[in-house]
Amino acid sequence: MADNDDLLDYEDEEQNETTAVENQEAPKKDVKGTYVSIHSSGFRDFLLKPEILRAIVDCGFEHPSEVQHECIPQAVLGMDILCQAKSGMGKTAVFVLATLQQLEPSDNNTCHVLVMCHTRELAFQISKEYERFSKYMPTVKVAVFFGGLAIQKDEETLKNGTPHIVVGTPGRILALIRNKKLNLKHLKHFVLDECDKMLEQLDMRRDVQEIFRSTPHGKQVMMFSATLSKEIRPVCKKFMQDPMEVYVDDEAKLTLHGLQQHYVNLKENEKNKKLFELLDVLEFNQVVIFVKSVQRCVALAQLLTEQNFPAIGIHRGMNQDERLNRYQQFKDFQKRILVATNLFGRGMDIERVNIVFNYDMPEDSDTYLHRVARAGRFGTKGLAITFVSDENDAKILNEVQDRFDVNISELPEEIDLSTYIEGR
Ligand code: ADP
Repeated sequence: MADNDDLLDYEDEEQNETTAVENQEAPKKDVKGTYVSIHSSGFRDFLLKPEILRAIVDCGFEHPSEVQHECIPQAVLGMDILCQAKSGMGKTAVFVLATLQQLEPSDNNTCHVLVMCHTRELAFQISKEYERFSKYMPTVKVAVFFGGLAIQKDEETLKNGTPHIVVGTPGRILALIRNKKLNLKHLKHFVLDECDKMLEQLDMRRDVQEIFRSTPHGKQVMMFSATLSKEIRPVCKKFMQDPMEVYVDDEAKLTLHGLQQHYVNLKENEKNKKLFELLDVLEFNQVVIFVKSVQRCVALAQLLTEQNFPAIGIHRGMNQDERLNRYQQFKDFQKRILVATNLFGRGMDIERVNIVFNYDMPEDSDTYLHRVARAGRFGTKGLAITFVSDENDAKILNEVQDRFDVNISELPEEIDLSTYIEGR
């Protein structure tokens, strides 16, 4: 609940942030990164509204994960929260449940909750989570706004009654605020998912700040990510008032338990052959193959399709309708192989993905972690295979191993199915 006027102008303050980091080692709450809470508490103990509890049961959630256990009780009391927990641990449900719980649907025609994230697909996915959990709250209206689709449609939605909950990407949200179609004067909860990504990029940070300034002072601010470097934490905290900070014990533990990780040394021109071979021998439910550019994404998806693999590509070069359509096809299991750029690297939750390929090495260790976490969601088993074709690739792989407590070994001749397929 930071005073908006306290927000620094980041461009000028960039220099000071290092000192801020040193001085701002606020007491933090260390939480173990386990999937199922060691505490015996259930969702019932959070004293959520019965209509929310019913929806939780429908979703098949039995026990809160550790991050949910740590955050939800504080979050429902309106506390500001800065939270880092590994991918796939259920951070989304923390803010979705906490904001739904605090919503007073009698307040019609005012937007109470704003959730922003960095990609359109993630915004769409979060809005679906709100729909799932508000199933028994028929008066609650959720809307999702992002760029790439005609803004007139969003304006029309807003004209027909302000949604209680708005999910979106900063550019489009800001456009709707600037043209006075979206009014956030009564906002009560401000949430950033993948907050490091949103605040590291200066242009996105500027948009977020401007949106933040159009909201009232006394609101709850919550921010989440799997990666939250020491440098970005003080930046996040400038938006908050005495936040509760929840971090997994330390970065080394961010790696995922159910996930087996291997690399293959090969030349650039051997990648396709190797990939096809592996797709033939490995058993997969769904696969995501990450590449480094739009062109490579298009070309590889085409190649796979020509070889009769059920593949589809997704990248920023596509128009938004097409992107969503493809995301949906993959989510609905109509396609089993997704070739993607980093666009798909964070936050996306497709539960049947059990294998991730880094066809091209990610540019840094953060990106590696986010990408491979697309497999092994919520503690399930998975396999990540990374192609290493030059010295730079090898360097990044070593960084990943140094930073996170993980051993990435050479891909063995044979991999036991039971290690990467659930239920085997
Ligand atoms: P994160 O945001 O931490 O990366 P998500 O919120 O996307 O993780 O959650 C990962 C998956 O785990 C989702 O499919 C979600 O529905 C599921 N999930 C979340 N919480 C629980 C729970 N308590 N029990 C069972 N599944 C859960």
